[in-house]
Amino acid sequence: MSVERTFSAIKPDAVAAGKAGEILAMIQQAGFKILALRMTRLTDAQARAFYAVHKERPFYAGLVKFMTEGPIIVMALEREGAIVKLREVMGATNPANAAEGTIRKRFATDIERNAIHGSDAPETAETELRFFFSTADLL
Ligand code: UDP
Ligand code: MG
Repeated sequence: MSVERTFSAIKPDAVAAGKAGEILAMIQQAGFKILALRMTRLTDAQARAFYAVHKERPFYAGLVKFMTEGPIIVMALEREGAIVKLREVMGATNPANAAEGTIRKRFATDIERNAIHGSDAPETAETELRFFFSTADLL
């Protein structure tokens, strides 16, 4: 396994609930280096574009509404095997299926309001990092 980068976002539910600090601590305790981080609020157009892969799914409109309801914290993370490792630390999409000790088990409300996003593959990690960060941010 090699050192790689992944993209993560703390979603509006967790930011509003004041859980960003605890989630960042869990990410750092799992050995991730935070390369870049900022708080932002997605516009409707940004949320639609970010989740365009899901545009035909029945949950798309609700997801876009949720992701624009308040600020999110976007970050670039680095670690050995970062993409798979972050997905482990996050837990399953539906918190009902998430393992004990995962971020979603602790902080998600339901399959939509699930506290955190993480890229699912090298190609999506690159696209998602580029969606939010410039070359200079990631040096
Ligand atoms: N989502 C939803 N309903 C579903 C599946 C997903 O509202 O039935 C939302 C949820 O917020 C999820 C996001 O859409 O995190 C993206 O879905 P994906 O299947 O990519 O899950 P993830 O990669 O975030 O685990
Ligand atoms: Mg996904």
